[in-house]
Formats: sequence, C-alpha cells, structure tokens
Amino acid sequence: MLDYHMHVENYYPFGRTPDTRPEGSDPLDTIRRFVEVATARGVSEIAITEHVYHFTQASDIVDRPWARDKCFYDMDVYVNLLLDAQRQGLPVKVGIEMDYMEGKEPAIERVVNGYPWDFVLGSVHWIGEWGFDLTEHKPEWDRRDVNDVYREYFRLLGQAVQTGCFNSMSHPDLIKVFGYLPTMDMTALYEELAELVACQPGLCVEISSAGLRKPVGRLYPERPLLEAFARRGIAITTASDAHYAEDIGKDFDSVAELARACEYTDAMSFTRRQRTPVPL
Ligand SMILES: [Zn+2]
Ligand SMILES: [Zn+2]
Repeated sequence: MLDYHMHVENYYPFGRTPDTRPEGSDPLDTIRRFVEVATARGVSEIAITEHVYHFTQASDIVDRPWARDKCFYDMDVYVNLLLDAQRQGLPVKVGIEMDYMEGKEPAIERVVNGYPWDFVLGSVHWIGEWGFDLTEHKPEWDRRDVNDVYREYFRLLGQAVQTGCFNSMSHPDLIKVFGYLPTMDMTALYEELAELVACQPGLCVEISSAGLRKPVGRLYPERPLLEAFARRGIAITTASDAHYAEDIGKDFDSVAELARACEYTDAMSFTRRQRTPVPL
C-alpha cells in the first residue's frame, strides 16, 4: 500500500539552526528511517506532508497565536531534502499538508504553485480562531452547539475543495476527533461535499487510520461519507498521518477493509501532482 500523509516535525531534519538536530547527523537519515519502517510494514511509497504552518515562507496562512512559535522551518531546505532523497532512489514524495484558511486563498495558491510538490493535501483544522482539533482548544467544544460546528466545518471543507489547489482532502471528517458527534442526519452535508469534490477533476479524498489513535477511535471518514464519494467515482489516497516513524502504515488492514467495502480496488500515487492508480 501507499502512505500519503505523515510528518517529520518531531525529528527536526530541517530545523532553523543546526543545533536542533544531533551533532553531525544527516537529515536524510530521518527520511531513510521512515522508508525502513514503511518497507517493514509493506508500504511501498510514502509522501512526507509536513504542516504548512511550520514554514516561514508561509507564515501568513495560519496567522494564529498558536502557530507563531512553531513557524521556523525553511521550505526550500525541506523541499530540497526530499528531492535529495528521491535522487538517492528512496520511494518518497515531496508533499505538504496545506491548511485551508478562509480568506487566505491567494497565499495558499502562491505556496501550492511556488514549489515542485508531488502531492498537496488540503485540510481544515481551524474554524475562525478556533483550532478545533487542538487539545489546548478543546474546552471550546463545550461552549458550542455541536450540530452548528459540523455545519461550519463542512462549509469550510467545501470552500477548500473549490480552491482547486489540492490533490486530496485529508481526514475529511476530522471534526469528530474528540468524539463530539452530531445529533442531526448528516446525509445532506455528505452529499453536498461529495458533489463539490466530484466537480474538481482529479481531486481525491483520504482514508486515514489516524482517527483510531484519537479519542473518537474511528477511521476518517465515516463509511456513509466514503460511500457518497465512491458513488461519484472519486478516487482515494491512503494515510496514517504518522507523527512518529512507528505509526507509518499503522492499521492499514482497517483502511483497506473500509476501502474495499466501498468497492475501491486502488489508491492514487502522485508524481508532480499527476495521479496514477496503484492496486490496494
Ligand atoms: Zn491534519
Ligand atoms: Zn497531518
């Protein structure tokens, strides 16, 4: 299988200063280690998709106090590291996890078009000033109407889809992360989102095992949402959203099982943003 969503942020291979990584270490070692773990798990290709808010060249996109002290990576160093890994024959894709922030479309477009990405993930993690999946922001859940939150999340995700900037929409129902579940029927919101995705040629949706490691304890997305995508012939990418090497390819039996239940037979691989199907 393919793992098209993971982070290197806990390894600092391209930190602000050399002292953020062990003396004399080769930043490519982290990438080699990721490939080793992937191979051992039966994952033949990985896309590294670091969060966009870490990069100084993109500091205007997630302009929130929470992100301020996390923004010190250099995007050129990051991209060049991954291109180096490719030159050495490692099965690694140059990726980014882009936050969709309402009103920041020009900045998003500039970053998406300004670097030689193989693969760009589109994510909604913020509803206005609220980072709804952050532990630090969790108390806000008890101050809001959960159904309204879901409506707002799916509205923003639909807008993200319509930017045309992305190759796959990550964790399409991340909003359930802490286990706050809607009491309303979700069919209309699912159908509307699937309709918008279907209008974007080549756009995929992600099946992610990360939700199994979160309080909700479920894959992203829920099966009825994936069925709405599948009915329209929308393709998938597969993902662990690993933040540590040991999570690469984790629970991919469950990911494949959900995909097959919705009659998917392959997942997409991307090179310079062009997709190719690979059997599950
Ligand atoms: Zn994410
Ligand atoms: Zn992620």
